[in-house]
Order: sequence, then structure tokens, then C-alpha cells
Amino acid sequence: MQQGDAMSPSEGFGKRPGIKRVGLMGGTFDPIHYGHLVTAEVARAKFRLDLVIFVPAGIPPHKRGVRISSRTDRYMMTVMATLTNPYFEVSRTELDRPGPSYAIDTVRHLKKEFDEETEIFFITGADAAIEILTWKDAKDLLKECGFIVATRPGCSTGELERRLMEARLHSTHCICMVEVPALAISSTDIRRRVEQGEPIRYLLPMNVENYVYKTGLYQKKCNNDKK
Ligand code: NAP
Repeated sequence: MQQGDAMSPSEGFGKRPGIKRVGLMGGTFDPIHYGHLVTAEVARAKFRLDLVIFVPAGIPPHKRGVRISSRTDRYMMTVMATLTNPYFEVSRTELDRPGPSYAIDTVRHLKKEFDEETEIFFITGADAAIEILTWKDAKDLLKECGFIVATRPGCSTGELERRLMEARLHSTHCICMVEVPALAISSTDIRRRVEQGEPIRYLLPMNVENYVYKTGLYQKKCNNDKK
């Protein structure tokens, strides 16, 4: 374990037995919302996952230079949103690892917690997955785990299907798409709504909404100045 890594429930106590299938839910989660939670739950049920580990990205590789909320805020919101689901956990591995958060490093690190036969599925959104063959060590990654790619309703999937088909040529696991109607919700839209003073209720869990307002996340600076 690297210095600064948070301990997951069993780290240091050997492998976690009896877990056959694990989903790693990768995303920036700025903020986490019901679209993400429904995606994780749909994937859990459809692929019979024993566990879904949410992995907030430390520095999303394709977003270097883009302003995102602090690691602490995104971690806190992810923990709060997932608290009530006994199948959900949150990992700090990418938040505590220096440098860009490459999926290959995350998958290899978290795999060590489970038996060799445990199947790992990386769950993420279509816009991220469409670039999958450009991800660091993509061909190795495709041999390490399966992919569950969540699409928004109404999104054209032609190009995505073509890219995933190409990815399958290098993969020894399943690469599947799931349509998640709740993904009509988006983090970008939530941030815009907060900035423009529009409601966000029912788009994300109440405790996350409270956290957003209490910490002043996504508010325009001049809104705070008016108070
Ligand atoms: P993003 O570009 O912010 O998101 C792409 C789209 O997918 C957005 O519409 C987003 O919706 C949605 N989305 C993101 N994560 C999702 C999830 N887990 N379930 C359902 N929808 C999701 O992508 P990102 O969040 O920065 O990156 C996604 C993951 O891919 C991260 O874990 C990142 O580290 C990984 N990634 C790895 C590499 C690499 O290893 N080289 C390269 C690129 C991405 P919202 O905006 O509403 O979340």
C-alpha cells in the first residue's frame, strides 16, 4: 500500500472471500447524482455484482487543466450518496494516488483485494468509454476487466458501438452497454443549475444537495458576495 492510501475494509487483512463479481464505478462525480446511483444499481442487478466500488477520479486523465471540485468535496458527496446501499463502497485509491488517475492502475490495485477468479467490471459513461482505446495501456486494461458502459436515453450509439466492437477484439471479457433512463441527469447540468439559482431537488440525494449548498459548491463568486 502506498503512503496516503486509505485502507479499504479488508486491506491488510488478506483477500475478501466469497466475492465473485465486482463493479468499479469510475467517474469524476462532481457532483454524484441519481443517474450514477441508478447506473450502479442497474449494473449490480443485471450483472449479479456482489459489490460496487465507487472510485472518484483524482485527476481524470482527459480533464487535466479543467477546473473540478476538490477531492475532499467529491469524496464526501460520494460517501454520503452511497451510505444507505449495503452493496456500495467508496475507494480513495485514485484520490490518494499522485498523478493522473489511469484506470489500469486502479483496476490492478483493487484487484489485489479479491481472489484471482473474481471478475471485475469497470462501469462508466459512454462519453468516457468511447475513447477507451486511447486510455493508458488500453489493450492490457481490456484483458484485466470487463466494461459496462452506461448510455443516456436518446443518445446515438452508432459510433460507440463501433468503438466498443473494436475494443472487443482486444478483450477477453464482456464489454456491454446498458441504457439508463435516469442518466438524463448530468453533473454538468446540476452545476449550471446551482450557478443560475435553479432547483436541483430530486436530481441527487438530499444529503448531497445539502452539502452542495452548505459548502457553496458551484455557486458563482458574485452570488456569495451578494450575501
Ligand atoms: P466524463 O467525461 O466526465 O463523463 C463522460 C460521461 O459519462 C458524462 O456524460 C458523465 O456524466 C458520464 N459518466 C461518467 N462516469 C459515469 C458513471 N460511472 N456512470 C454513469 N455515467 C457516468 O468522464 P469522467 O467522469 O471524467 O471519467 C469516467 C471514468 O473513466 C473515470 O473513472 C476516469 O478516470 C476514467 N477514464 C480513464 C482514462 C484512462 O485510464 N486513461 C481516460 C479517460 C477516462 P456526468 O457528467 O453526469 O457524470
